[in-house]
Amino acid sequence: MLIVMERDCSAEQLQKVVEKIQKMGFKAHPIPGEVRTAIGVTGNRTPLDPAEFETLSGVESAIAVTKPYKLVSREVKQEDSRICVGPVTIGGTGFVAIAGPCAVESEKQTLEAALAVKDAGAHMLRGGAFKPRTSPYSFQGLGLEGLKILALARRETGLPIVTEAVDDESVGLVEEYADMIQIGARNMQNFQLLKRAGRSKRPVLLKRGMSATLDELLMSAEYILSEGNYNVVLCERGVRTFADHARNTLDLSVVPAVKKRSHLPIFVDPSHGTGIREKVGPLARAALAVGADGVIIEVHPDPDAALSDGPQSLLPGMFADLMRDLGRMAPLVGRAMER
Ligand code: PEP
Ligand code: MN
Repeated sequence: MLIVMERDCSAEQLQKVVEKIQKMGFKAHPIPGEVRTAIGVTGNRTPLDPAEFETLSGVESAIAVTKPYKLVSREVKQEDSRICVGPVTIGGTGFVAIAGPCAVESEKQTLEAALAVKDAGAHMLRGGAFKPRTSPYSFQGLGLEGLKILALARRETGLPIVTEAVDDESVGLVEEYADMIQIGARNMQNFQLLKRAGRSKRPVLLKRGMSATLDELLMSAEYILSEGNYNVVLCERGVRTFADHARNTLDLSVVPAVKKRSHLPIFVDPSHGTGIREKVGPLARAALAVGADGVIIEVHPDPDAALSDGPQSLLPGMFADLMRDLGRMAPLVGRAMER
């Protein structure tokens, strides 16, 4: 249920409605909009009667939400959400580039990558310290030591950090050392992890599972919002299909579909989406053209020596060229590179 307040309702009237929802044993999620505030109600297992709320003062209307997800839907919030990560705003007209190595391997490698992507104009630094790998024998990440290296890279460059958390313990550590929590494709439906991220104060980058539908991705985001964390950025990173010319099939058609169904920003990851260095630039440009709010791109100072995802990692020079192209393209598609 969505309760739409009158334009000029008072703070007391809003509070009375919130209290009523809480007394009924449900959760109230006030959603301030440009013209009026709405309140999303979650936690009810059966449909609520709109009349119960429409008679309260300050309430304009109460509407049943028809989708299985509520708080992430456009029905509940018309305006695009803007998510702040330090000084960077994701969503709105600015286009944001996150770049860095797949994994934090050493201080030298991470600082080199961080300085290079900063010079090229990236807005945020990525790099995994906890790596969920397909094989148990592959490099699993440096863990806490990796987070400390990322924090050092932030001090050196000023770039906010996004890095993956894989369980309860690592969410706690990522919250402490980084600016944004990444939830990877393999954990998109780890509901305990989603709930934990929902209780965090840090914004979340939620990647689409490798065979997840859009509704499943939105339901996973709903887990995070329903716990009170409204700062979620979705990320398309390719799905499994029969096509074998690339690691995954980057589903760019999901971007306008997300924009129609949800107010949350959507990023595109052309690195995991293709798995092939030469394809990253073309698909990053396509992501901008199709309306994505940003891209997340793997860059490594020496991809041939990378401990993970070398074949899809750009060399710093290739990334700089790409950033220049994106900057030129952005105004043509009604965007500007975020400052
Ligand atoms: C990553 O970003 O390095 C990563 C592991 O991505 P995904 O979860 O999309 O596979
Ligand atoms: Mn990777």
